[in-house]
Formats: sequence, C-alpha cells, structure tokens
Amino acid sequence: MIEETASPRRRFLKLAGGAAAAVVLLGSLPRRVWAALPHLSAASNATAKALKYVEDDTKAGPPHKPGQDCSKCVHFQGKAGEAYGPCAIFPGFDVNAKGWCTGFQAKG
Ligand code: SF4
Repeated sequence: MIEETASPRRRFLKLAGGAAAAVVLLGSLPRRVWAALPHLSAASNATAKALKYVEDDTKAGPPHKPGQDCSKCVHFQGKAGEAYGPCAIFPGFDVNAKGWCTGFQAKG
C-alpha cells in the first residue's frame, strides 16, 4: 500500500532528475556539437555575393584591408578560436572566422 502512494512521487523525482541531467549534459557540450549551421557561401547566397563574402580574407578585394576578418568583426558571434561561427548579418549560417565581407565593422 505504501508502495502505491509513493510510486507517482518517485516517478516524478526520477523524471525530474533525468531531465535535469539532460540539461546539464547538453549545456556541457560544445555549442558546435548541437547547433552547427550550414557554412555561408557566396556561390549560393545572393546577399553573401552582394556583400562580396569570401571564406579567406586574404583573397578579398577592395575595400578589404589587411588584418580584417570575421573574427574581428562586431557582427561575428562565434567563440574565440572557433573556425566558424554565426554572423548577425547572415542569420541561419556560420561564417568562416578568417572570412570577410563588405559588412565588416571592427570590434571596438
Ligand atoms: S559582417 Fe562581419 S562577421 Fe559577418 S561575414 Fe561580414 S565580415 Fe564576417
């Protein structure tokens, strides 16, 4: 009889514990593992083409200046050291940290 009344509570605690463990596990994974976005390409994205996006800033034309790349741009939302990351100008895509486009604005 005691088993029957304690069972729903035990089940709840078990489920709550499992959910909490899942949240902790997901939170500990690197963002890239579960939220990788497609890489931006000027060949298939009209806005990227219009803004002259390149994967390698050393291949960018004017008005690019040496040393400018996505990792140093205010719009880049990737973490330091990551090869790719989201960009506020291109939602739904990751840009190359060493890329560049005419939307470049240096971090302050
Ligand atoms: S806006 Fe900045 S971060 Fe985004 S693609 Fe252009 S240079 Fe890179």
